[in-house]
Amino acid sequence: MTTFHDFLRGNQRFLLTGHENPDGDCLGAEVALWHLLRALGKTVNIVNPDPIGRSFDFLQRHTPFSHARPDEPLPDFDAVVLLDCCQLSRTGLLGPRLVQKKPTFAVIDHHVGSERGDGSICYVDSTAAATGALVRRLYRELDVPLPMAAAEGIFLSLVADTGWFRYSNADQEVFAMASELVAAGVDGSRIYDALYRRNHPDSAGLLADALHRHRLALGGKLAIACLDKALMDRAARADFDTDAVLDPLRSLEGIEVVALLKERFDGTVKCSLRARGDVDVQAIVATFGGGGHKKAAGVTMRMPMAAAEAAIEAAVQQSLLALGGTKRT
Ligand code: AMP
Ligand code: MN
Ligand code: MN
Repeated sequence: MTTFHDFLRGNQRFLLTGHENPDGDCLGAEVALWHLLRALGKTVNIVNPDPIGRSFDFLQRHTPFSHARPDEPLPDFDAVVLLDCCQLSRTGLLGPRLVQKKPTFAVIDHHVGSERGDGSICYVDSTAAATGALVRRLYRELDVPLPMAAAEGIFLSLVADTGWFRYSNADQEVFAMASELVAAGVDGSRIYDALYRRNHPDSAGLLADALHRHRLALGGKLAIACLDKALMDRAARADFDTDAVLDPLRSLEGIEVVALLKERFDGTVKCSLRARGDVDVQAIVATFGGGGHKKAAGVTMRMPMAAAEAAIEAAVQQSLLALGGTKRT
């Protein structure tokens, strides 16, 4: 059986990619793997389905990113590594273009069930807080020193997926890694400022308007916010991350689940679920074809907003009923 190490050592030209609208974990893990493969003497290109968001552009001072454009050829590659997701369907229109070249597909991921994805070779651990933490493990296993740029990428991965060390996945490995990364020179507060302190002037108004779209349901246990195309369009123009509404809604006493539904330009609805108590939101979205983690999961729903809203409310209700009296964590 080929080990993941053999896969990395045995190929020469790599293409790294991840899910649509790449987040901090996806991009940070790509940065770290790019530098690892370069240290091993490989040719590496990061090609994402979507451009890197403005708040992440500080990464480009040490790591080159590109995204797939329909009219431009892809760089040459023999091996593809999917990071922070395990299915080609999550790479949008890029997936079929990658398959055409018949590369070896590998997966580095921490989502539930990722060993059953599209990778013929996998490096997965659903107990890991972030994909970036898995790439850190690879550095250690291959005995490659961690360059500063990779340390910054891994730090970004950790803070992105643990909500700056606040969520229940912020375990001992996360804090130990963070300590080591800070010792290596990572400046956490500079990263924080780069990510969150360069917002467009309309973003405060957008946050207020998006929060206004929420309602409480199921006796105050579900907070659900629906953002229509007009608001999503305004958010896109201001490069505003609408996920900012999740936290204030999650802070309400009595809340078990927060649902954020966003109308996309292609007519689908992107649904993000966050749990605070014992509800397993990964199990809920799995019934609609989505995935993620027990306390944070997502799915793209091919139905109108009103239908998606009703379906999610019904599914959350069922899951609350099945749990009976729920404990809060
Ligand atoms: P999001 O709500 O998009 O922030 O996603 C929450 C978690 O669920 C993240 O770890 C995502 O990678 C994962 N996730 C989101 N959408 C999907 C999907 N369609 N299929 C599988 N996992 C998903
Ligand atoms: Mn992600
Ligand atoms: Mn992740």
